[in-house]
Formats: sequence, C-alpha cells, structure tokens
Amino acid sequence: MELLACLNRVLAEPVSSRFDIPPWPNSSMDGYALRAHDTREGGPGSPVELQIVGTIPAGSVAGHPLGAGQVFRIFTGAPLPDGADSVIPQEEVQVQDERIRLRRPVAEGEFVRPRGEDLKAGETALEVGQVIGPAQIGLLATLGRSRALVFRRPRVAILSTGDEVVDLGGEVTQGKIPNSNSYALMAQVVEAGGEPLNVGVARDRRESIEERLRWGLSADVLISSAGVSVGDYDVVREALRRLGAELHLWQVAMRPGKPVTFGSLGGRPIFGLPGNPVSAMVTFELFVRPALRKMAGHTALHRPQIRARALSPIPNPGGRRGYLRVTVSAEGGEYGARLTGNQGSAVLTSMVSAAGLAVVPPDTTIPAGGSVPVILLKPFPS
Ligand code: AMP
Ligand code: MG
Repeated sequence: MELLACLNRVLAEPVSSRFDIPPWPNSSMDGYALRAHDTREGGPGSPVELQIVGTIPAGSVAGHPLGAGQVFRIFTGAPLPDGADSVIPQEEVQVQDERIRLRRPVAEGEFVRPRGEDLKAGETALEVGQVIGPAQIGLLATLGRSRALVFRRPRVAILSTGDEVVDLGGEVTQGKIPNSNSYALMAQVVEAGGEPLNVGVARDRRESIEERLRWGLSADVLISSAGVSVGDYDVVREALRRLGAELHLWQVAMRPGKPVTFGSLGGRPIFGLPGNPVSAMVTFELFVRPALRKMAGHTALHRPQIRARALSPIPNPGGRRGYLRVTVSAEGGEYGARLTGNQGSAVLTSMVSAAGLAVVPPDTTIPAGGSVPVILLKPFPS
C-alpha cells in the first residue's frame, strides 16, 4: 500500500535496512571538520591554528582527504572528509585568513553522527504487528520504501432491526425512534480499524432480516443490533439460523448488554448486539472491538485498564457484572472515577460524557473512596 495510506494500519511484513543509516559519518553542527589529535595542545592560553583547505556544504562530499593541521569548513549533515574524526562548532573558533584558531582540545568523535548510528545494515527496523504512526512512516521513507505491506482492514456489515427504527432522513412519527445504533456502531468499527458496510434497517420480520443479512455476507464480519432479547419479535437469531449460522452463545451476565449473541457463518464471526444504544456500544467494546483488532493484525487487543478511586459511590445492584459509565480524572497521583449520571441502557448522553467503564461485581456497591477497575474508552485525559 502507498506509504501515507499505511498510517494507522498494522505492518504485515518485517522491514529491515539494506544499508547503514546514516550511510556515512556526518557533522551534527555547522563548523569545522578536523583531526582531534591536532587540537590536543589547545587551551585558553595556548590557541591552536589550523588551515582551512575546503568547504563541504550539505549534499556534497570533500574533493580530497584532510591532512595533518588542516580543517574543512563543514555544514550540518555533510559527510566527514576522509582523515577527519571530529567537528568543532563555528561559534567556538576565530577565523582569519583561511585559518581557524581554537582554544581547547576536541575529543575524537565530537559533533559527529557515526555511520550506522540509527540502524545497521541488515538490522530489523520494524516488526510485523507494529502500528504505523508518523515515526514509522518517516523511517520507511528513510529506508527508501514508497510502499509497505499492511494487514487488510476487516469489512464489517452493520444491520439495524426493528419496526420502530427510522433511518436518517425518514420521518420519526409517533411510536418510532431514530436509528442511532447503525451510526454509532459504524463509527466504532472505523475507530477499531475496520471498514463498515451499512446494510440498513430491517423490519421485525425474519424475511426482511435474512435479506439484509445476505447482503452483509460480502463482509468479513456481521453485526446486528436489536431483536435478540426474549420478546415475541426477536427474530434475529431465527433469521441467522435460517441462513445456516451456528449460534455459539446467547446472553451474558452483564449489565448493560445481557442479550448479546455470538455465532459464525462460513467462518465469519457474527455478533448479535442488543438494541439499546448503550448496550450495543458497550457490547461492541467488550466483544467486537478486540476481534476486529485481531483481524486487523493488532497485537494489543484491549483498551488500557486502570484502577481508580470512586469519587462517589458506584452501585451495581442485581446479579450481573456491571460496566458503568464514569468520568475519569487524575489528582494527587491517582485516578478518580465518578458515574456520568443515569445509567439506563438507553441513555446515550451518559455514554457521551463517559471516559471509561467501571467494572463492578454483581450486587456490589463501590463506596466513595473505594478502588475500582476502569476500562478507558478514550485517550486520557480527554
Ligand atoms: P430490542 O432488543 O429489539 O428489544 O430493542 C431494545 C431497545 O433498543 C428498544 O427500545 C429499541 O427501540 C431500541 N433500538 C433498537 N434498534 C435501535 C437502533 N437502531 N437505534 C436506536 N435504538 C434502537
Ligand atoms: Mg426490537
């Protein structure tokens, strides 16, 4: 893939250097290239005089080697001439009549970037699985690579279901609700390194769901939302079975997100996420995101988890493990977590203000001042 398009993707080939970088010793300052040995007598009261025999601008090479008692005027990045081993910055010398005068001994190697300082020929520069950021792009360019092999992004079909769900652009009449899940989930797919395929909104009829799921079979992963709870109209699981999917699990003891379903069809993972907007997003975080990252070649699959102090009580009544929306702050060398407000699984605004999910065991209240693990959903501080 073309170099800049590799940004944020995962490298799928090891990349090594074919040559030393830098390929020759070069000056790290504008100054004079010399032999350290010639300056050993230099001191505040005993200046050493050396003869300027040429100039090496960046991009050029010296026309001849440096002899005893000689210096080349040299600029940052220019290769050291043969015979030179160090550089004295221009601000440390006086120049007169093609001669420089300096008043200290120069140590061998001073202000010289040695050959191979960054990488040696044959050395591995980037490993498979590295996420390609700006520095990796720069290093690939240094190595002369205009392209690199990266993992493919998984294509992820997103289906919303429900007779009440009206897509963007439609009229939300009484009893209907706007489709938010398709858009939040597509955004989560992009953020996780996948490519979303929007297959729209199906009616609460098995045929309607089957039809759109079939469209989604061109993708690597299928995600549906809603229609997996125990109500009469929860027909997604039935439609999946009819398509030949194997359903591996249904219902997880968690809050929100209990009705989540996982299956596979022709080697394709299928996630039947709950319909409530927060439940859909939280189950995506916990089940889908790690899977997509693995498919995209990432080795770090999970969000960072921290321990935070509860700044006010965090209750989780009921027999399921809670993933509660919290803000996260850092004070006095520790993190603090506070509920974002109403934890209802349809309350999307409290997801908007959440920086993390506090993980609380069933029937447990974390008291104010208590310690709680928090999954960070965004880079911190956000
Ligand atoms: P269900 O799992 O079908 O019982 O749906 C649970 C809740 O999620 C209901 O209140 C639905 O109206 C809501 N819901 C379902 N699909 C969506 C969607 N695409 N966008 C927003 N809310 C939805
Ligand atoms: Mg429904």
